[in-house]
Amino acid sequence: MEQIETCNSIWLLDPALMQFCRMPKGADPAYAVSARWQPYFRFEEETGTEVFRVALDEARTRWLSSRRHVDPCARCGEECTRQVVMPPPPCAVVGDLLQ
Ligand SMILES: [Zn+2]
Repeated sequence: MEQIETCNSIWLLDPALMQFCRMPKGADPAYAVSARWQPYFRFEEETGTEVFRVALDEARTRWLSSRRHVDPCARCGEECTRQVVMPPPPCAVVGDLLQ
């Protein structure tokens, strides 16, 4: 299970089942059990940025895109740093160092 934190939500991705769901940030992780899981067909990350996206259809014509929240985050400031539950992924750390 992969967990990705954005500025206002947490994405859970299950690569085995190819399903994902989004939880409001700060929600009880138990919420994921009852959350609406959606199938996805591909997961991509943009190298050197915090942008990631999932394909919503097999033909990969519809994508849902978002950005990882990093610490410190230029977009939501210090407000969110208290809620960070995962260390930044390696690619986000690299992105930070380049800025
Ligand atoms: Zn943020």
